[in-house]
Amino acid sequence: MTDRTGGPRITVFSLGGTIASTKSSDSSSGVTPQLKALDLVAAVPQLRDVAEVTAVNFRQIPSCDLTFTDIVALARAIEQSFETGADGAVVTQGTDTLEETSFALDLLVRDSRPVVVTGAMRNPTVAGPDGPANLLGSVRVAASRDARGLGTLVVFSDEIHAARFVRKTHTTNLATFRSPSSGRLGWLIEDRVRVVFRVPPLAAIGRVPEGEVPAVALIKCSLGDDARALDHIASLGYAGVVVEGFGGGHVPSRLVPALEILAARMPVVLASRTGSGELLQGTYGYPGSELDALSRGVISAGVLDGLKARVLLSLVLSINDELTRARALFEEVAASMSFHDGPSLV
Ligand code: ASP
Repeated sequence: MTDRTGGPRITVFSLGGTIASTKSSDSSSGVTPQLKALDLVAAVPQLRDVAEVTAVNFRQIPSCDLTFTDIVALARAIEQSFETGADGAVVTQGTDTLEETSFALDLLVRDSRPVVVTGAMRNPTVAGPDGPANLLGSVRVAASRDARGLGTLVVFSDEIHAARFVRKTHTTNLATFRSPSSGRLGWLIEDRVRVVFRVPPLAAIGRVPEGEVPAVALIKCSLGDDARALDHIASLGYAGVVVEGFGGGHVPSRLVPALEILAARMPVVLASRTGSGELLQGTYGYPGSELDALSRGVISAGVLDGLKARVLLSLVLSINDELTRARALFEEVAASMSFHDGPSLV
């Protein structure tokens, strides 16, 4: 549906999640995603003052059931909405996988117009649901010229975050979305959008084909871990693996031989399990240190956490599964997360 009020044209794609969840009249059990995009938009009459909103019901599922196939198709649908004149896009979905889907959209949608992802922590049946305010804030940001060229954004609790840095940090808190490595890019105040920091455009990864994306494993190191999971990665059919190491990028020394063997046949990316900060490159020299792992063909995740590194590696592998080229593409995109030439003083 299109609500014709004039102003910027924003398409709202709904995918389900808590923001769309309610109880069936015949059921005493929990809420499920039942509201459609049109319902979500109709519940926020203030949207009429902000934009001409088109509502598209894209999926109606909990976000734990979303797949890369859904998100690649969503990216295409967003690009089509831009081709037909939309000024911005808002995606409403479950918060559980939002930090991954938003980054996938960041990599997939090549357009300077804003793509904003949001959701809710409180469903519409409880006191103080946050979905309507998050939707209104997201449409405001998607309609703002200041939000152009920032890639995909996450707008939640009146804060604006870059998809590449944002994480879900709490099971229930309304301000669950945080960017621990970088901080937020801006905020909403009354009816105004404030962008105070900018991020550079991501390097293009190329056209991801529709269909299955190659499987990438995510393995978190833990105290006293041995290599038994790593030993089975290849035989389980994974095309790549992300290892969340300790601290600045360290793994138990007994994992190193298995990592080296794997890295010779598929991309092996090392991220930090801390969830914040950048991987070290040249500090520690003991077996299993970042220097040791990187010298054996392991790829650094740079500033990306394990979940985001897995998203990037999955999409890279769907374009090119040849080891050297996949590695080069991963590194190029990972390096584009931050500015490189430094600020000009003139
Ligand atoms: N379980 C929900 C989902 O991710 C949680 C939420 O939307 O906040 O779909």
